Amino acid sequence: MSSDSIAPLHMIDILRKKRDGGALDEREIQFVARGAADGSVPVDQLAAWLMAAWIRGLSLDETRALTLAMRDSGVKFAPKNLGKRTVDKHSSGGVGDKTSFLVAPLAAACGVAVPMISGRALGHTGGTLDKLEAIPGYRTALTLEEFEAVIRKCGASIIGQTDQLAPADRKLYALRDRTATVENPGLICASILSKKLAAGLNGLVLDVKTGSGAFLRKMEDTEFLAGLMVATAESAGTETVALLTDMSQPLGRAAGNWIELVECVELLRGARPARSPETNFDLRELSLILAGWMIHLGGQAATPQAGYSLAEAALTDGAGLAAFMKMIDAQGGDVSVFDDMEAFHKPGATLKVDAWESGYVAEMDTTALGWAVQRTGAGREKAGEPVDPHAGILFHARRGARVERGQLFATIYATNAEMLAEPVAILKEAVHFSKSLPNAVPLVSSIITRENAGDYLRNAVD
Ligand code: URA
Repeated sequence: MSSDSIAPLHMIDILRKKRDGGALDEREIQFVARGAADGSVPVDQLAAWLMAAWIRGLSLDETRALTLAMRDSGVKFAPKNLGKRTVDKHSSGGVGDKTSFLVAPLAAACGVAVPMISGRALGHTGGTLDKLEAIPGYRTALTLEEFEAVIRKCGASIIGQTDQLAPADRKLYALRDRTATVENPGLICASILSKKLAAGLNGLVLDVKTGSGAFLRKMEDTEFLAGLMVATAESAGTETVALLTDMSQPLGRAAGNWIELVECVELLRGARPARSPETNFDLRELSLILAGWMIHLGGQAATPQAGYSLAEAALTDGAGLAAFMKMIDAQGGDVSVFDDMEAFHKPGATLKVDAWESGYVAEMDTTALGWAVQRTGAGREKAGEPVDPHAGILFHARRGARVERGQLFATIYATNAEMLAEPVAILKEAVHFSKSLPNAVPLVSSIITRENAGDYLRNAVD
């Protein structure tokens, strides 16, 4: 049969089919994604389709087809003759989650090309771009040509999403936000991966957060989404691993913008925190594990453990720091602000908060703590609002630490004195102390690869 004789598609038929629980084929899914990108399917029909997909669910085949169709809705980032494998890391979002500033330069220093496309603060979570923009001059909006040139020169580049990559996601994501159709595994998977796959990655490391600060709270939902993303990305030719990691407390000690960069640069300068609940040992450790996987998927180490050792060597010998500074400079950032990081830090108001009880730090409602950080001025209430680069919260004790009443617990940096009270009130509600040592939570609870991804997909829609 010639292609001329293929029956034309109509959105109303696709809607009816999905509404009634039918499975859409690849052509029908492509029709929807293309229609979202070029405007040929009207917004009311897209919104209805999203709701039908949310309620009926998307099968593994539908999810894969949607991911690929959204990937193909725009241009692809395809650097030529880099001579290196390209690997990115994506985090599902957290509080104090700043590993990008460590893993990107460490992997770059170990011979991997890192085209990292990041986001802004969302809800209670911080945004990599907002943090980088605390550096005067740093440009997060590069053209794809500039992006490629920085990667060629420095091994890594961190920029924001461009209009050119996966435009179908831009349209659908904004609609999902307005139609209560965000929390669906197939739609989330297609949204995240379409952008990653359009960046032409050879490898992808997914850091999927679990615990009180994660977007998805139920472990089975988190595992399903992680398995789905690994299986879908692998089927599209990108070697992918998902690590389920702890977000039952902020990662490291700092949550904000500039103060998170400071914490990372201190580690890149060789700080070696003791394995203790008062330190940011967890940040260093998780970053080395993630970088180890990136270096392994980047073909520079036979195993992730060997990658960890290479990343640790690059941390110790300063190669990671050099790569980070080179990247900042190449993107227009003023690296002299790192000469005296304390002098550059100019919060509008500072308050030291002492422990209000004696005991072990037992539970942290990390989502609430994320909102406390946002209320200091470090985050935004509405898209497009500016953030305060100098605001945030520094935690001096973390889960498992023994504190005495009156001992320094946190330092709050706010835009002005009026903005101190709310973060303090949230902090005091969000942190609980106990008489006995709380159970330790593993930093990495599961590792999902193409070999075991299927084990997590048993409850997939047919
Ligand atoms: N991040 C994305 O890019 N898309 C989603 O759907 C959820 C988180």
